[in-house]
Amino acid sequence: MSRSNMPSGPATVGSLIAEGLRIRGTCNECGHKRLLTAEAMAEMAPNMLLSDVHRKMYCGACGSKNVIATSETLREVRQGRER
Ligand SMILES: [Zn+2]
Repeated sequence: MSRSNMPSGPATVGSLIAEGLRIRGTCNECGHKRLLTAEAMAEMAPNMLLSDVHRKMYCGACGSKNVIATSETLREVRQGRER
């Protein structure tokens, strides 16, 4: 059995930066969303998994650490920036 071609494994901070995608944090407590700046992402370890990023995040609105980190998709980036 062989694995199908996985491009580069799970998303990491470095791989998202390379693709020009940013990380979005969504607060589970109050629903507040924020997009990390490219600078904030550059300060993180490039090999940090996206699934671990939420541990470094907290909500800017309510201060909760119950935050989910997801990445933008290329489609979202295009839609968001064309508007
Ligand atoms: Zn919050």
